[in-house]
Amino acid sequence: MNGKAGNFNLNSSSIDTIVQCPFCKSENSKVLESRSADDDRSVRRRRECIDCMQRYTTYERVELAPIVVIKKSGSREVFSRDKLIASIIRSCSKAHISTATIDNIVDKVESIMHQRFSREVSSITLGELVMEELKLIDPMAYLRYASIFKKINSISEFIDEMKNLEEQILYTDVRAPILLKSA
Ligand SMILES: [Zn+2]
Repeated sequence: MNGKAGNFNLNSSSIDTIVQCPFCKSENSKVLESRSADDDRSVRRRRECIDCMQRYTTYERVELAPIVVIKKSGSREVFSRDKLIASIIRSCSKAHISTATIDNIVDKVESIMHQRFSREVSSITLGELVMEELKLIDPMAYLRYASIFKKINSISEFIDEMKNLEEQILYTDVRAPILLKSA
């Protein structure tokens, strides 16, 4: 996926990573060139050993501790960005939401999870975080996602959800779009 913003400062001269030269094991190297790699998630650095003058390349990547999702059944699984993207794409298939927007939603949800929840998050909370974002972007996609997520089975439940949404939209002073003509 494109559009992922990186947090690396490529021009930073203070590199606190200790790198061992693969040739002489020296820990003194100078960086000749830095470039973002892997879609901005890692930094490729071309280095030269100050002691033996050999050149080599390192890839530095920030790894965040994986988040574990606790499902309704009580079972746990490692949070999968791809899985979340797939579930949003399914609910947004009829809505005009770009993959870049979906990517941004997932970025935001992922960073909220890392900020608010140290290691574990329930699948319910995860779904609610997605719905909060969808609600702001596309009420139609939100309703579709909510209907799957909340397992809305009856028309009356669906209408309740639409009313809630309409009230919230009015409350936040956003012009209410025309909601579902056909459910
Ligand atoms: Zn060396």
